[in-house]
Amino acid sequence: MSKSATLYNRLALIGVGLIGSSIARAVRAHGAVGSIVATARSSDSRKRVAELGLADQVVETNAAAVESADLVILCIPVGACGAVAKEIGPHLAAGATVSDVGSVKGSIIRDMGPHLPKRVHFVPAHPVAGTEYSGPDAGFAELFVNRWCILTPPGGANEKAVDRLAAFWRLLGANVECMAADHHDLVLAITSHLPHLIAYTIVGTADELQNVTRSEVLKFSAGGFRDFTRIAASDPTMWRDVFLANKDAVLEMLGRFNEDISLLTKAIRNDDGKALIEHFARTRAIRKGIVDIGQDSASPDFGRPHPGLPHAPLPIPYAADGD
Ligand code: NAP
Repeated sequence: MSKSATLYNRLALIGVGLIGSSIARAVRAHGAVGSIVATARSSDSRKRVAELGLADQVVETNAAAVESADLVILCIPVGACGAVAKEIGPHLAAGATVSDVGSVKGSIIRDMGPHLPKRVHFVPAHPVAGTEYSGPDAGFAELFVNRWCILTPPGGANEKAVDRLAAFWRLLGANVECMAADHHDLVLAITSHLPHLIAYTIVGTADELQNVTRSEVLKFSAGGFRDFTRIAASDPTMWRDVFLANKDAVLEMLGRFNEDISLLTKAIRNDDGKALIEHFARTRAIRKGIVDIGQDSASPDFGRPHPGLPHAPLPIPYAADGD
């Protein structure tokens, strides 16, 4: 990776889990900021961040982290962002950009916006990239490469601040698009949130089956189930917050999903092979489209090493988030 021009003097990372530590690593790799100050909720995480050398300075409080930072990014669960915004509000430097990485955007604007002073620029963001792993050890500098980062600046946001944050994410390898927060939440409800809900459901259903032993589920997991288990291993707190924060859009998509699954149920019951073929051909074309635009690889991923976790299978950054 080549080093480029510095875009911000001092980046404050609040939360250094998968996403925060990936930002830290990518920022370092590209020389995107002058220095990084980081904090995490627990002393264990702060200690680990220091051990890994992910930041120039690790501080104990959110307030201490944001003082004199010109870019502040909250990398914590969506449901915690409002309280943290309230905490840091009085300590933010004039002209700083305040952002986040949350997987839901409407609730972030609703919860954070009122606590941020007029002297700062609020530009919410969502890097649509992730894995099922958590914590400071799980991140890697390439996580955002060729993934989308969606910015949802509220009406009246400072254009220069938005452009600068867009340049920051591009420097980390992401493609950037701006959209309204409610549109983001609708799009992500179908591309990311509903798939996670389905994965959590299927893996739970398999776990409850009395006549299929646990060892058989594990042994034959390559038959489609394996990919669901990867998604269903995602962080419980993060996903609780996502579903509660994006309730309306998720319920809307779930309603449509239930209607469609009823149609497929009927086709199977009625031996309607034609309906099944038509449906599967349509979905196969969607998969081809995702591969064609470079959001996933056509090759299988069995056994490839993950750069950060030598013996684990490669977590393919989700085209649809983990985002
Ligand atoms: P993670 O690896 O679990 O890290 C979460 C971080 O937030 C940790 O530093 C944790 O501190 C801190 N934290 C947890 N609860 C907190 C609270 N109540 N108050 C303050 N800090 C708290 O999570 P992640 O995967 O990086 O996700 C962070 C954000 O990125 C979430 O908003 C998520 O929606 C978004 N996102 C995730 C993905 C993905 O695939 N994972 C993709 C795109 C966006 P401790 O370690 O001290 O507990």
